Amino acid sequence: MRKISIIGSGLVGSMLALFLAKRNYRVNVYERRPDMRKQKIDGGRSINLALSDRGLKALNKLGLADAVKKMTIPMHGRMVHGVDGSLNYQPYGKEGQYINSISRGGLNELLMTEAEKYSNVQYFFEHKSTDVDFKTNEVAIEAAGKNIKTESDVVFGTDGVFSAVRNAMMKTERFNYSQQYLPHSYKELNMQPTASGNWKMEKNALHIWPRKSFMLIALPNLDGSFTCTLFLAHDGDISFANLQTEAQVAAFFQEYFPDTIELMPNYIEEFFSNPTSSLVTVKCFPWTANNKICLLGDAAHAIVPFYGQGMNCGFEDCDVLDDLIDSYQEDWTTILQQFQTLRKPDGDAIADLALRNFIEMRDLVADENFLTRKKIEKAMHERHPQDFVPLYSLVTFGHTRYSEALRLGQLHDTFFNQKNNLKELAATLDQPETLQVLDSWVKELKGR
Ligand code: FAD
Repeated sequence: MRKISIIGSGLVGSMLALFLAKRNYRVNVYERRPDMRKQKIDGGRSINLALSDRGLKALNKLGLADAVKKMTIPMHGRMVHGVDGSLNYQPYGKEGQYINSISRGGLNELLMTEAEKYSNVQYFFEHKSTDVDFKTNEVAIEAAGKNIKTESDVVFGTDGVFSAVRNAMMKTERFNYSQQYLPHSYKELNMQPTASGNWKMEKNALHIWPRKSFMLIALPNLDGSFTCTLFLAHDGDISFANLQTEAQVAAFFQEYFPDTIELMPNYIEEFFSNPTSSLVTVKCFPWTANNKICLLGDAAHAIVPFYGQGMNCGFEDCDVLDDLIDSYQEDWTTILQQFQTLRKPDGDAIADLALRNFIEMRDLVADENFLTRKKIEKAMHERHPQDFVPLYSLVTFGHTRYSEALRLGQLHDTFFNQKNNLKELAATLDQPETLQVLDSWVKELKGR
């Protein structure tokens, strides 16, 4: 039986362990942190996240989609909160399409527990990888003050955004790497349930308070709470750097998010006790070394969270790799080469899409022209569900390659930016002449 080492037992590493365990490989998973099922540890990243179709497809392949769905809260659309307390609900897609709020820790624990059911999988917690020998495939691991070396036929680096495996690859020849911090950081705040354990806001929506250059969002949790995340510039005029005192934070919330104050009575205390974290995009290439070592998930392509796709993309990585193992069996050289050739353009595309969606979330969702275009796109999609799919749906509710979704999104932008009659059309969607125009647009766009 071939031996595979996986470095990092986060969401992607644990899913990968399952895919490989099913194929009877001997899988050893090395994780820097203690076992999160035994010891409460700070997740370090968001408390909950949005799981959508790409991630669900991979979970389904593993027979886990039903179990996971029980841990989720469907979010059918965005609930946009104005400064004046007004609410504007915007469905994400067609009837029946939604994204799912899920606990990061809960999902990670489930994947670990499922992987450990296989006798050929072994987890090693508090085992931190420090280096890789690319000639021998040995990974240097620090554990309980000792240094050990793993031996394996193939090594996967799923050790996240600050990957140690990738750091080792950076010391090799011709390794390309870029790391771009967003000017914005984020801080999580908790909105507790009501006294009777219910959600204080509509639970089947992702809530957004768009404030042009910054925003607050909230995702529901199963226990009746919401996890709220403030995305704000790290420094500058309106920024975390300028929110140093309780009075400054209170005045900031009073001015921009007045409707949240009553819903989050502890927000000031939490603001100072919870960490402020950075957001970074990492691109690199190659993802493989020596045809035996391969990066996957955030280690290969860390993206900002605004499309809710980082984990979904990592799960899709596992799905694609699994298909390649089917196609090329034990030929790991071809599997890994094909994997990076296929996935690199998609990793780059979703990184760019995620950056672009920040502007959509923090600003455009409250913009009249944007909403007009959305209305037109929705009508085109409803009339021609196969031939015209809006970008958000391509990314979130389908399996079109991210690189193709990005191309189509850019095409749609160019097309709609040239039209100066969107408002009139949006106001007359019940008129046959308007529908004829939309039909002709779908025809025009199709095949481009
Ligand atoms: P990680 O989850 O980071 O796991 C890496 C693992 O490797 C960790 O367990 C770590 O302890 C371990 N490790 C690190 N270094 C070592 C070492 N040297 N040796 C051994 N082990 C090591 N994605 C979505 O799809 N939807 C969302 O809604 C969403 N929201 C997000 C919100 C925020 C605020 C952020 C920051 C991210 C969000 N993401 C979202 C992205 C998502 O969190 C990541 O894409 C996902 O966690 C990547 O999984 P991973 O397993 O590759 O990395």
